[in-house]
Amino acid sequence: MVIGGGIIGLSSAYYLQQAGHKVTVLDKGDFLDNCSYGNAGYVCPSHFVPLATPGIVWKGLQWMFNSRSPFYVRPSLDRALIDWGFKFMRSANKKKVEAAAVPLRDISVLSQQEYKTWSVLPGFDFAYQQKGLLEIFQTTAVAEHAHETVKKAKELGLDVELLNYEQLQKLEPQTTINGLGAIFFKCDAHLYPNKLMSSLLMFLKAKDVQLIGNAEVTGFEKEGNTIKKVITTKQVYEADEVIVATGAWSREIAAMMDTKIPLVPGRGYSLTLENSRYKLNYPAILVEGRVAVTPMDGNKIRFGGTMEVVSTNTPPRYQRVEGILNAVKRFMPEFDIAMPSTDQLWYGYRPCSADGLPYIGRISHYKNVVVATGHAMLGLSLGAGTGKLVSELVNDVTPAMDLSPFAVERFG
Ligand SMILES: Cc1cc2nc3c(=O)[nH]c(=O)nc-3n(C[C@H](O)[C@H](O)[C@H](O)COP(=O)(O)OP(=O)(O)OC[C@H]3O[C@@H](n4cnc5c(N)ncnc54)[C@H](O)[C@@H]3O)c2cc1C
Repeated sequence: MVIGGGIIGLSSAYYLQQAGHKVTVLDKGDFLDNCSYGNAGYVCPSHFVPLATPGIVWKGLQWMFNSRSPFYVRPSLDRALIDWGFKFMRSANKKKVEAAAVPLRDISVLSQQEYKTWSVLPGFDFAYQQKGLLEIFQTTAVAEHAHETVKKAKELGLDVELLNYEQLQKLEPQTTINGLGAIFFKCDAHLYPNKLMSSLLMFLKAKDVQLIGNAEVTGFEKEGNTIKKVITTKQVYEADEVIVATGAWSREIAAMMDTKIPLVPGRGYSLTLENSRYKLNYPAILVEGRVAVTPMDGNKIRFGGTMEVVSTNTPPRYQRVEGILNAVKRFMPEFDIAMPSTDQLWYGYRPCSADGLPYIGRISHYKNVVVATGHAMLGLSLGAGTGKLVSELVNDVTPAMDLSPFAVERFG
């Protein structure tokens, strides 16, 4: 029984079905919109630095009161948020960031290999392209730091190159770039998330995986150290293995299983030009603007960004999208994109763990539960790999990589 029909839940269902299990996926929604749809589509071993870094805490405080800023934490006396905040600040140090690099690279590379395999399977068509990603910067401070990032990436065995302005502009002959240069992560890939999700749903349906929508999980029937039944707003379901892949809502579900995981929703927004007159060859991160720009699936271009740590009931603040578009114009002056009506904007909630590493593994209280969540900014990138690891845990075979850095109860 997989709870959650985002990329993590569907990937888990995929590998579990392939391993011969009878799989059901439950979702409180209709499977057609969650954080796994409107994201930037990066499949990126380049992201070996987790969200919790020393710089981000200070930056976050500086940006706190600007409604167009890319990072925002809503001040609140909510205990879960305060607890997460303390753990986040404690994780945001050099030692932890360095320790995260190898596990993040490994799960990322594993995941990328799996996506590559899927991309040539019959029925799977999600515009997968492995052409790299540019991290474009405008300031000398970031340019200096870029040397270090490239050095570290090379040490990790990633294919990467530092580009000066001329080299960068040569890669994008159809668009004027306003920047000093870029890190060219040739190791990265990207895809069109909406098509990936529909390919997976179609595949799972064809393999008789039950996809049950509008079934919100509200509790569990337990017997000793076993979860016997999953209670939903629709029906009660028996289960012999339960996978928790409920994204930004996973803290509440884990609590129903007497398990604490520090996790908060990190809301982000995106806007997609369906038939763009602007042309880009490569996905790009506009570093100082904290914005992702991805040309995808033919003529589409998607712009995404912001990290608002808020509850999932907080009304969207669409001024953030203006912030995204302003940043795009600073880097690509020809991109003159008017703020569209709100029905054309998308937002989703990233499941943010307290240290930027996912939670993947079994829990101590119940022997038939696997948790797979907390992927923050990397859920799409790590999706297929996570699904494979979940299936390995259920099948009781040695996982493809060491899972101890992702231990679900590592914060105690
Ligand atoms: C603007 C933006 C850009 C991004 N860009 C990238 C990128 O380029 N690359 C990348 O790797 N990541 C990116 N991300 C992050 C990525 O989208 C997420 O990490 C990922 O989608 C999380 O997947 P998930 O399956 O854990 O959660 P979700 O996709 O949110 O799925 C969780 C599902 O659980 C269901 N659920 C919740 N509670 C219950 C319940 N009680 N009962 C039943 N069902 C329940 C929900 O309805 C939902 O369908 C981006 C995110 C944003 C916002």
